[in-house]
Amino acid sequence: MKCPYCNAEDTKVIDSRPAEESNSIRRRRQCESCGRRFTTYEKIETIPVMVIKKDNNREPYDRSKIESGILRACHKRPVSIHQINELVDEIENIIFNREEKEIKSSEIGEIVMDKLKDLEEVAYVRFASVYREFKDVSTFLEELEKLRK
Ligand SMILES: [Zn+2]
Repeated sequence: MKCPYCNAEDTKVIDSRPAEESNSIRRRRQCESCGRRFTTYEKIETIPVMVIKKDNNREPYDRSKIESGILRACHKRPVSIHQINELVDEIENIIFNREEKEIKSSEIGEIVMDKLKDLEEVAYVRFASVYREFKDVSTFLEELEKLRK
């Protein structure tokens, strides 16, 4: 583990504990060279989940795909990177807690929409319009109307 301040190779762990978010360990480290301290998070590896796509092809689950979809939907909205990370953590937990090795991409989309709905209205509608491929303005408005209730 390299020191983020001086790039020295030798750092030692001074404290480890489970992080607040599940599945990760927080480690406090100290650089042997400059003495500065920093924190790292280690994700515990989970069983690989395969995603079944619309065309029935399978590909390994990829967190960054969910992340980039949400980032795009949140473009210029008052949502912080921290909130997005938390949201992806929540979504990921739901996916892994199903304890099934496969999940349809459409199911992931539904979970994302469900979570985004509570976070940011505009981001939700954007995501849903891309995801559900709204065919016309009326479907889009219907979705907005549902949200207002
Ligand atoms: Zn250092």
